[in-house]
Amino acid sequence: MAKKEIKQIAIYGKGGIGKSTTTSNLSAALSDMGYKVMQFGCDPKADSTNTLRDGSYIPTVLELLRDKSKVDARDAIFEGYNGIYCVEAGGPAPGVGCAGRGIITAVQLLKQQNVFEDLDLDYVIYDVLGDVVCGGFAVPIREGIAKHVFTVSSSDFMAIYAANNLFKGIQKYSNSGGALLGGVIANSITSEYQRSIIDDFVARTKTQVMQYVPRSITVTQSELSGKTTIEAAPHSEQAKVYRELAKRVDAHTESVTPSPLDAQELRSWAAEWADQILAIESGEVKDAAQAI
Ligand code: ADP
Ligand code: MG
Repeated sequence: MAKKEIKQIAIYGKGGIGKSTTTSNLSAALSDMGYKVMQFGCDPKADSTNTLRDGSYIPTVLELLRDKSKVDARDAIFEGYNGIYCVEAGGPAPGVGCAGRGIITAVQLLKQQNVFEDLDLDYVIYDVLGDVVCGGFAVPIREGIAKHVFTVSSSDFMAIYAANNLFKGIQKYSNSGGALLGGVIANSITSEYQRSIIDDFVARTKTQVMQYVPRSITVTQSELSGKTTIEAAPHSEQAKVYRELAKRVDAHTESVTPSPLDAQELRSWAAEWADQILAIESGEVKDAAQAI
């Protein structure tokens, strides 16, 4: 029988932008579609899988490795919503060691013990981290661990700056078997001009928007009850948006090498938008200011 290809995805984006929230809802929606999903948290904060497990924290792979020299990888896997496999790589104590090495160690442990195949997974989703300034965080891209990368970004400049940096990292490793870009998940979009900013950025960098995700109080409520929106409010508009995202990710097959802007291009691009927003606010341009 032909070996099933496990779809391995990495989600990147600036800290606090909504990676874990989006990833957990994506995992939940994919598992509702009948897929076997593992969510692999790669943030040293180790809170990626919280809302899949009623708000509870799990021991990390690196913690287990610190306590015992020989670890059964299965001891690092915990069951979450609808049977999702939850893993947290963890990180070194703050201020010591390289968190990127931690990711390699954690992924290697599971791979050496053939965990992905034994569990017959359809998806492994790595919830990674902010900009790729530290080489360590490029690991899932560089080492061919993930095949497709998605970035979560709002229309804020710093989030776009981080996405653009990620594009530089992807471009750098694109000729040596690195992961390519699937697209941008536009998060916290509440107005037409925010959508236009993201649309313009993806057009300039030759990428695409996978889904527009509105900022929503339902997400806040769900998070406070320790759950994903898919679990806590399955009939909400927001859950529909996450399900749509899951369908698009599932249908996605061809990722691309993005064309990042250089520092000067990014600055002048931002300055053009500053002028545009000023024009919107002063009423010179009307339509783009409407809420959506
Ligand atoms: P990251 O993993 O990128 O650091 P989180 O997923 O932890 O970010 O999200 C940071 C905060 O933003 C959380 O409190 C989360 O509930 C909130 N958040 C993220 N996306 C949305 C959204 N679309 N609507 C409302 N709140 C959101
Ligand atoms: Mg997170």
